[in-house]
Amino acid sequence: MKILVAVKRVIDYNVQIRVKEDGTGIVTENVKMSTNPPDDNAIEEAVKIKEAGKATEVVAISVGEEKAQETVRKALAVGADRGILVKAEGTVEPLAVSKILQKIVEKEKPDLVFMGKQAIDDDCNQTGQMLAALLNWPQATFASKIDVKEKSLEVTREVDEGLETIEVNVPAIVTCDLRLNEPRYASLPNIMKAKKKPIEQINASDLGIDTKPRIDQIKVEEPPKRKAGIKVASVEELVQKLKNEAKVI
Ligand code: AMP
Repeated sequence: MKILVAVKRVIDYNVQIRVKEDGTGIVTENVKMSTNPPDDNAIEEAVKIKEAGKATEVVAISVGEEKAQETVRKALAVGADRGILVKAEGTVEPLAVSKILQKIVEKEKPDLVFMGKQAIDDDCNQTGQMLAALLNWPQATFASKIDVKEKSLEVTREVDEGLETIEVNVPAIVTCDLRLNEPRYASLPNIMKAKKKPIEQINASDLGIDTKPRIDQIKVEEPPKRKAGIKVASVEELVQKLKNEAKVI
Protein backbone atom coordinates (compact mmCIF):
# COMPACT_ATOMS: atom_id res chain seq x y z
CA MET A 1 0.00 0.00 0.00
CA LYS A 2 1.27 3.43 -0.96
CA ILE A 3 0.32 6.58 0.97
CA LEU A 4 0.57 10.09 -0.50
CA VAL A 5 0.65 12.85 2.15
CA ALA A 6 0.00 16.52 1.36
CA VAL A 7 2.04 18.96 3.45
CA LYS A 8 1.61 22.72 3.22
CA ARG A 9 4.16 25.39 4.17
CA VAL A 10 2.48 28.01 6.37
CA ILE A 11 3.47 30.72 8.85
CA ASP A 12 4.47 29.00 12.10
CA TYR A 13 1.57 28.82 14.56
CA ASN A 14 3.62 30.60 17.25
CA VAL A 15 4.16 33.71 15.12
CA GLN A 16 2.18 36.81 16.02
CA ILE A 17 0.57 37.66 12.67
CA ARG A 18 0.96 41.29 11.58
CA VAL A 19 -1.22 43.02 9.01
CA LYS A 20 0.53 45.16 6.36
CA GLU A 21 0.04 48.88 6.87
CA ASP A 22 -1.81 49.29 3.55
CA GLY A 23 -4.23 46.45 4.43
CA THR A 24 -3.34 44.41 1.35
CA GLY A 25 -2.36 41.31 3.31
CA ILE A 26 -0.19 40.08 6.14
CA VAL A 27 3.55 40.45 6.64
CA THR A 28 5.37 37.34 5.43
CA GLU A 29 8.94 38.67 5.09
CA ASN A 30 11.39 37.30 7.68
CA VAL A 31 8.64 35.31 9.34
CA LYS A 32 9.22 31.75 10.56
CA MET A 33 7.50 29.17 8.36
CA SER A 34 6.62 25.58 9.32
CA THR A 35 4.54 22.63 8.23
CA ASN A 36 0.80 23.16 8.68
CA PRO A 37 0.24 21.47 12.11
CA PRO A 38 -2.36 18.79 11.14
CA ASP A 39 -0.17 17.86 8.16
CA ASP A 40 2.46 16.76 10.71
CA ASN A 41 -0.19 14.41 12.11
CA ALA A 42 -0.90 13.14 8.58
CA ILE A 43 2.78 12.32 7.98
CA GLU A 44 3.12 10.75 11.42
CA GLU A 45 0.15 8.46 10.82
CA ALA A 46 1.39 7.39 7.39
CA VAL A 47 4.85 6.61 8.82
CA LYS A 48 3.31 4.65 11.72
CA ILE A 49 1.23 2.59 9.26
CA LYS A 50 4.40 1.85 7.28
CA GLU A 51 6.29 0.92 10.46
CA ALA A 52 3.46 -1.47 11.33
CA GLY A 53 4.12 -3.22 8.00
CA LYS A 54 0.82 -2.13 6.48
CA ALA A 55 2.24 0.30 3.90
CA THR A 56 5.21 0.02 1.59
CA GLU A 57 5.87 3.64 0.69
CA VAL A 58 5.09 7.12 2.02
CA VAL A 59 5.37 9.98 -0.47
CA ALA A 60 5.18 13.60 0.75
CA ILE A 61 3.94 16.31 -1.61
CA SER A 62 3.78 20.07 -1.33
CA VAL A 63 2.46 22.68 -3.74
CA GLY A 64 4.04 26.10 -3.60
CA GLU A 65 7.17 28.14 -4.04
CA GLU A 66 10.68 26.67 -4.21
CA LYS A 67 10.99 27.14 -0.43
CA ALA A 68 8.20 24.61 0.14
CA GLN A 69 10.97 22.09 -0.51
CA GLU A 70 11.93 22.61 3.18
CA THR A 71 8.49 21.34 4.19
CA VAL A 72 8.89 18.24 2.02
CA ARG A 73 12.40 17.74 3.43
CA LYS A 74 11.01 17.84 6.99
CA ALA A 75 8.49 15.13 6.06
CA LEU A 76 11.41 13.05 4.73
CA ALA A 77 13.27 13.58 8.01
CA VAL A 78 10.41 12.07 10.02
CA GLY A 79 10.05 9.03 7.82
CA ALA A 80 8.58 9.73 4.37
CA ASP A 81 10.48 7.83 1.64
CA ARG A 82 10.49 10.42 -1.12
CA GLY A 83 9.05 13.80 -1.96
CA ILE A 84 7.35 15.76 -4.71
CA LEU A 85 7.34 19.55 -5.00
CA VAL A 86 4.85 21.03 -7.45
CA LYS A 87 6.09 24.54 -8.07
CA ALA A 88 3.63 27.41 -8.30
CA GLU A 89 4.10 31.08 -7.45
CA GLY A 90 1.91 33.12 -5.10
CA THR A 91 -1.30 32.00 -3.46
CA VAL A 92 -2.56 28.64 -4.69
CA GLU A 93 -6.21 28.22 -3.72
CA PRO A 94 -7.67 24.88 -2.55
CA LEU A 95 -9.33 24.13 -5.92
CA ALA A 96 -6.03 24.50 -7.78
CA VAL A 97 -4.19 22.42 -5.14
CA SER A 98 -6.80 19.66 -5.39
CA LYS A 99 -6.59 19.66 -9.21
CA ILE A 100 -2.78 19.34 -8.94
CA LEU A 101 -3.12 16.54 -6.37
CA GLN A 102 -5.59 14.79 -8.70
CA LYS A 103 -2.95 14.76 -11.48
CA ILE A 104 -0.31 13.44 -9.07
CA VAL A 105 -2.68 10.74 -7.79
CA GLU A 106 -3.35 9.64 -11.39
CA LYS A 107 0.41 9.36 -11.93
CA GLU A 108 1.48 7.88 -8.57
CA LYS A 109 -1.59 5.70 -8.00
CA PRO A 110 -1.51 5.76 -4.17
CA ASP A 111 -4.02 3.70 -2.18
CA LEU A 112 -4.50 6.46 0.35
CA VAL A 113 -4.10 10.24 0.42
CA PHE A 114 -3.59 11.74 3.87
CA MET A 115 -3.94 15.49 4.38
CA GLY A 116 -4.51 17.93 7.22
CA LYS A 117 -8.08 18.77 8.21
CA GLN A 118 -7.41 22.46 7.59
CA ALA A 119 -4.62 24.84 6.71
CA ILE A 120 -4.03 27.40 9.49
CA ASP A 121 -3.32 30.21 7.02
CA ASP A 122 -6.48 30.17 4.89
CA ASP A 123 -8.66 28.08 7.28
CA CYS A 124 -10.42 26.74 4.19
CA ASN A 125 -11.02 23.07 5.11
CA GLN A 126 -11.75 22.39 1.42
CA THR A 127 -8.79 20.73 -0.32
CA GLY A 128 -9.39 17.14 0.85
CA GLN A 129 -13.10 17.31 0.13
CA MET A 130 -12.52 18.76 -3.37
CA LEU A 131 -9.89 16.12 -4.15
CA ALA A 132 -12.29 13.36 -3.07
CA ALA A 133 -14.93 14.82 -5.40
CA LEU A 134 -12.51 15.15 -8.34
CA LEU A 135 -11.28 11.56 -7.92
CA ASN A 136 -14.72 10.21 -6.97
CA TRP A 137 -13.08 8.53 -3.94
CA PRO A 138 -14.61 8.13 -0.47
CA GLN A 139 -13.45 10.61 2.16
CA ALA A 140 -13.05 10.49 5.92
CA THR A 141 -12.49 13.98 7.30
CA PHE A 142 -11.35 15.11 10.79
CA ALA A 143 -9.83 11.71 11.57
CA SER A 144 -8.77 11.18 15.20
CA LYS A 145 -8.19 7.38 14.85
CA ILE A 146 -7.41 5.24 11.82
CA ASP A 147 -7.51 1.43 11.71
CA VAL A 148 -6.22 -0.11 8.50
CA LYS A 149 -8.28 -3.19 7.48
CA GLU A 150 -7.87 -5.54 4.51
CA LYS A 151 -9.38 -3.28 1.80
CA SER A 152 -10.87 -0.53 3.92
CA LEU A 153 -10.20 1.86 6.77
CA GLU A 154 -12.12 2.32 9.99
CA VAL A 155 -11.91 5.98 10.85
CA THR A 156 -13.06 7.75 13.99
CA ARG A 157 -14.03 11.34 13.24
CA GLU A 158 -14.17 14.35 15.53
CA VAL A 159 -17.65 15.80 14.97
CA ASP A 160 -19.64 18.44 16.88
CA GLU A 161 -21.69 15.81 18.72
CA GLY A 162 -18.65 13.76 19.75
CA LEU A 163 -16.97 10.89 17.90
CA GLU A 164 -18.31 9.17 14.80
CA THR A 165 -16.79 5.92 13.43
CA ILE A 166 -17.11 5.19 9.73
CA GLU A 167 -15.68 2.62 7.33
CA VAL A 168 -14.38 3.75 3.94
CA ASN A 169 -13.18 1.60 1.07
CA VAL A 170 -9.63 2.07 -0.18
CA PRO A 171 -8.60 4.09 -2.19
CA ALA A 172 -9.67 6.95 0.03
CA ILE A 173 -8.88 10.47 1.17
CA VAL A 174 -8.37 11.04 4.90
CA THR A 175 -8.02 14.48 6.46
CA CYS A 176 -6.30 14.35 9.85
CA ASP A 177 -7.19 16.01 13.14
CA LEU A 178 -4.61 17.19 15.69
CA ARG A 179 -5.78 14.51 18.14
CA LEU A 180 -4.84 11.67 15.76
CA ASN A 181 -1.34 11.16 17.18
CA GLU A 182 1.72 12.87 18.63
CA PRO A 183 4.05 13.82 15.74
CA ARG A 184 7.68 12.81 16.36
CA TYR A 185 10.62 15.19 16.21
CA ALA A 186 13.19 14.73 13.47
CA SER A 187 16.46 13.46 14.94
CA LEU A 188 19.73 14.92 13.66
CA PRO A 189 20.81 11.65 11.95
CA ASN A 190 17.42 11.45 10.24
CA ILE A 191 17.67 15.09 9.11
CA MET A 192 21.04 14.21 7.56
CA LYS A 193 19.64 11.05 5.95
CA ALA A 194 16.69 13.02 4.55
CA LYS A 195 19.11 15.18 2.54
CA LYS A 196 19.83 12.14 0.39
CA LYS A 197 16.17 11.22 -0.22
CA PRO A 198 14.86 12.27 -3.65
CA ILE A 199 12.48 15.20 -4.23
CA GLU A 200 10.95 15.33 -7.69
CA GLN A 201 10.19 18.86 -8.89
CA ILE A 202 7.32 19.52 -11.28
CA ASN A 203 5.92 22.83 -12.53
CA ALA A 204 2.19 23.26 -11.98
CA SER A 205 1.93 24.67 -15.52
CA ASP A 206 3.43 21.45 -16.94
CA LEU A 207 0.51 19.59 -15.37
CA GLY A 208 -1.82 21.89 -17.32
CA ILE A 209 -3.26 23.44 -14.14
CA ASP A 210 -3.98 27.15 -14.03
CA THR A 211 -3.19 28.25 -10.47
CA LYS A 212 -4.36 31.87 -10.90
CA PRO A 213 -6.41 32.86 -7.80
CA ARG A 214 -10.17 33.04 -8.35
CA ILE A 215 -10.77 35.05 -5.17
CA ASP A 216 -9.93 38.76 -4.84
CA GLN A 217 -8.77 39.64 -1.34
CA ILE A 218 -10.22 43.10 -0.85
CA LYS A 219 -8.88 44.10 2.57
CA VAL A 220 -7.19 42.59 5.61
CA GLU A 221 -7.74 44.20 9.02
CA GLU A 222 -6.46 43.56 12.53
CA PRO A 223 -9.17 42.37 14.93
CA PRO A 224 -10.29 45.14 17.35
CA LYS A 225 -7.94 45.52 20.31
CA ARG A 226 -9.25 44.11 23.60
CA LYS A 227 -10.08 46.71 26.26
CA ALA A 228 -7.94 46.65 29.39
CA GLY A 229 -9.39 44.65 32.29
CA ILE A 230 -10.14 45.94 35.78
CA LYS A 231 -9.58 44.54 39.26
CA VAL A 232 -12.48 44.34 41.67
CA ALA A 233 -12.12 44.39 45.45
CA SER A 234 -14.79 41.84 46.32
CA VAL A 235 -17.19 39.22 44.99
CA GLU A 236 -20.06 41.63 45.72
CA GLU A 237 -18.48 44.29 43.53
CA LEU A 238 -17.91 41.71 40.74
CA VAL A 239 -21.56 40.60 40.87
CA GLN A 240 -22.74 44.22 40.88
CA LYS A 241 -20.59 45.06 37.82
CA LEU A 242 -21.69 41.95 35.93
CA LYS A 243 -25.32 42.84 36.68
CA ASN A 244 -25.36 46.60 36.17
CA GLU A 245 -22.46 47.36 33.81
CA ALA A 246 -21.85 44.27 31.69
CA LYS A 247 -25.52 43.28 32.06
CA VAL A 248 -24.66 39.59 31.61
CA ILE A 249 -26.39 38.23 34.73
P1 AMP B 1 -7.29 23.81 3.28
O1 AMP B 1 -8.38 23.22 2.45
O2 AMP B 1 -6.59 24.96 2.62
O3 AMP B 1 -7.77 24.15 4.68
O4 AMP B 1 -6.14 22.69 3.44
C1 AMP B 1 -6.44 21.37 3.90
C2 AMP B 1 -5.26 20.47 3.70
O5 AMP B 1 -4.95 20.37 2.29
C3 AMP B 1 -3.94 20.93 4.33
O6 AMP B 1 -3.88 20.54 5.69
C4 AMP B 1 -2.91 20.17 3.48
O7 AMP B 1 -2.78 18.82 3.87
C5 AMP B 1 -3.55 20.21 2.08
N1 AMP B 1 -3.04 21.37 1.31
C6 AMP B 1 -3.64 22.56 1.10
N2 AMP B 1 -2.85 23.38 0.38
C7 AMP B 1 -1.71 22.69 0.13
C8 AMP B 1 -0.48 22.97 -0.55
N3 AMP B 1 -0.26 24.15 -1.14
N4 AMP B 1 0.47 21.99 -0.61
C9 AMP B 1 0.25 20.79 -0.01
N5 AMP B 1 -0.88 20.48 0.65
C10 AMP B 1 -1.84 21.40 0.72
